[in-house]
Amino acid sequence: MNSTKTPLIGMTHSDLVELCYDAGVKPVHADHIVASVFRRYNSDLSSISTIPKTLHSYLAKHISMFEPTCSAEQLAADGTRKLVLQMPDGKAVETVLIEGAKRLTQCISTQVGCAVGCTFCLTATAGLTRNLSAAEMVAEVMAGQRISGQKVSNIVLMGMGEPLHNYQAVAQFLNIITDPKGMAFSPNRVTLSTSGMVPAIYRMLEDKFPCNLAISLNATTDEVRDRIIPINRKYPIAALIQAVREYIQQRGSKRVLIEYVMLAGINDSLEDAHRLSALLEGMHCTINLLPFNPYQGASFKRPDDATVSAFQAVLVEAKLIAIIRKSKGRDISAACGQLITEIKKKR
Ligand code: SF4
Repeated sequence: MNSTKTPLIGMTHSDLVELCYDAGVKPVHADHIVASVFRRYNSDLSSISTIPKTLHSYLAKHISMFEPTCSAEQLAADGTRKLVLQMPDGKAVETVLIEGAKRLTQCISTQVGCAVGCTFCLTATAGLTRNLSAAEMVAEVMAGQRISGQKVSNIVLMGMGEPLHNYQAVAQFLNIITDPKGMAFSPNRVTLSTSGMVPAIYRMLEDKFPCNLAISLNATTDEVRDRIIPINRKYPIAALIQAVREYIQQRGSKRVLIEYVMLAGINDSLEDAHRLSALLEGMHCTINLLPFNPYQGASFKRPDDATVSAFQAVLVEAKLIAIIRKSKGRDISAACGQLITEIKKKR
């Protein structure tokens, strides 16, 4: 990416309209650029035949385009596809395409690495390298669609990184992908997951982020959550739950997703299930129970199926919606950050 030029895929439709004014051409050409770049994934601006020469010259002078290189790809038996995408500076991130009934969900990374340090997460072991730009996140979506040959229907910001540690770029990314005159993803089909950045959750509310909210909760006591998600020492469970309840109250119809990674002997007891029921009592939420996906060197184990089912039964008894999520792509390097780690080891 040429740093003196603005990356086109980091722009909304209204940014492109302004660009047309600056270039001295009719604003309708913003639509032509959107149709070619965002709808047909064309990364060669010089090939757009519907825009005038003046605009071509302006684009060549001021605007850049880039496509990340796909440096590794794995396809699981269930259709889950994991890609390692190399950004122009050589830094790599993972993105995952998950096939479901009548939907294709793409899991997007928002940072190269992560600073949060969750002890069950492989991505955390390398720390944070840098934030991704909005354009790089859009490039992940475009690469996912181009490589799979399919239209992505749902986007989850649950890959490498804590999205709310990269607030401005993530806000811009959400605006670009949900822009009705641009990529036009429905905000109902976009979900941002956070490890619990309480002040940023309130800021999301103020800024009316066009997406759903997911919380990576994973514990029912501060003692356990402090150990597995260090950010809890700053923003403990009570403050996080309070923020979520206010979020739901103000956003009305939005159902929040509560993610609960189940770690054998750590957070999977029936006492935990009862505490979780009490914490979430009356909350408009769906709980995703995610039995831990072990990776080489992990210090946690996956609970057995009977333990997971018994945990779920307590939540259902308490009138909560709790779904046990099967790990997709278990025959490939399914844990977040695993494929990149394996590639680095081979080098
Ligand atoms: S689980 Fe998410 S927030 Fe926690 S370290 Fe991993 S990438 Fe960061």
